[in-house]
Amino acid sequence: MIVDCHCHAGKGDGFTGPWDTDAPLGAYLRRAAAAGIDRTILLPAFSSDYGEANRALARIVARAPHRLQAFAMVHAARDRGRIHELVETAVKRYAFRGIKVHRHDAPINREVCEAARRFRLPVLYDIGGDTAVLELLSDQYPDVAFIVPHLGSFGDDWRAQLGVIDHLVRHPNIHADTSGVRRFDLLVQAVRRAGAHKILFGSDGPWLHPGLELAKIDALQLGPQQRSLVLGGNLLRLIGQTPQARPGRADPDRADPTAPTRAASIRPPRSQAGEHGSQAHRPPLPLAPSR
Ligand SMILES: [Zn+2]
Repeated sequence: MIVDCHCHAGKGDGFTGPWDTDAPLGAYLRRAAAAGIDRTILLPAFSSDYGEANRALARIVARAPHRLQAFAMVHAARDRGRIHELVETAVKRYAFRGIKVHRHDAPINREVCEAARRFRLPVLYDIGGDTAVLELLSDQYPDVAFIVPHLGSFGDDWRAQLGVIDHLVRHPNIHADTSGVRRFDLLVQAVRRAGAHKILFGSDGPWLHPGLELAKIDALQLGPQQRSLVLGGNLLRLIGQTPQARPGRADPDRADPTAPTRAASIRPPRSQAGEHGSQAHRPPLPLAPSR
């Protein structure tokens, strides 16, 4: 199964560019189907009201729940004090499977991470080139999975992307997606050094072409197991949808399986394990947006 972990949908109201105005899915869905992409994780566009943007996204997902799932977007500063409530609504009413935060809105904060921990969700955090925060996140929230889109920089910041690879190597809970990464050899290096279990295929559709982005993964010429992790296995593991893929499982393609960097060993702190149970065994949530 091929899963695109990063595509936007819905409308924004900023009018500074497509990213905060409109993310229409029509062409994306045709292109993704033609490219063989089976499922797509949708994220809202930038918006002045993420409660409303998440609600609108749930309506979009409901039109094609076999192909679409979604992450809830929150604004770390503007939504302060109601992030738990926004995420709870997204999980319980919309069956969303992760949280999206963008550094352009505001730097990620403890409230976002606590909500991710509480609801066992991965956080797709666009760091906008601010790589040092990954050190703090991995230290403070080792049980929360973070996905860094664009290998750290949509703006093609080579230094930031190189820095993210070091964090991928050192921190089991830090992952990256491939969307919009232009310097191909950085993707080669990320897989070689960090392992295929840390890299997720994403397109940043509808603005980038999912077939073009997928061609980059083909060009990596990965072995079948590595390829299947990058193209969907990792994302499904992080959202708890693969019963056979428990957190902590080693990447079978790693040259040295005893090396310290393992597949996302995202385990809850012992005190919470009994309270909420293992993510891998969490029952599937109903796909039933209420409106
Ligand atoms: Zn994006």
